[in-house]
Order: sequence, then structure tokens, then C-alpha cells
Amino acid sequence: MIIIYIMLFIILYYFFEGGEDGNKNEELCIYCKKKINKDSIHCTNCNKKLKRVCKNCGKLIDISWRDCPFCDETK
Ligand SMILES: [Zn+2]
Ligand SMILES: [Zn+2]
Repeated sequence: MIIIYIMLFIILYYFFEGGEDGNKNEELCIYCKKKINKDSIHCTNCNKKLKRVCKNCGKLIDISWRDCPFCDETK
């Protein structure tokens, strides 16, 4: 009987873990450590803001970066 539970566990494991390959566009939320899309402006899990728009060039930059890497804000 226990073999059925083991098989069910394996099937569920592959269903959840192996379902999505190619996680190149994913990164971990710095707040809740859940997987999120790399381009997300805010975390879909904890709703915290992750990116901001540079006032100068309009590009998305990481909220933890003080300066924009795309243009030279600092002078
Ligand atoms: Zn989060
Ligand atoms: Zn910029």
C-alpha cells in the first residue's frame, strides 16, 4: 500500500518541481525569497517593490541600487 503513496509523491514532485524548466527569467525575491519574474516591478508574492524607473533614462533598475547603471546620474 505504501508504494502507492511513494509513487503519488514522485508524480506530485515532478508536477510541481519539473513542470517549469528554463528558469532563466526567474530570480528570487529579496524579501520573501520566492521565485519571481526577473522583470517584475514588484513581487507577486509579498507585493514589495523591487524595481524603480530611472528618472533620467527611464530604464528599470533594481530598487537596492542607489545609482542608475545605464546613465550617469551621479555628478
Ligand atoms: Zn516577495
Ligand atoms: Zn538612468
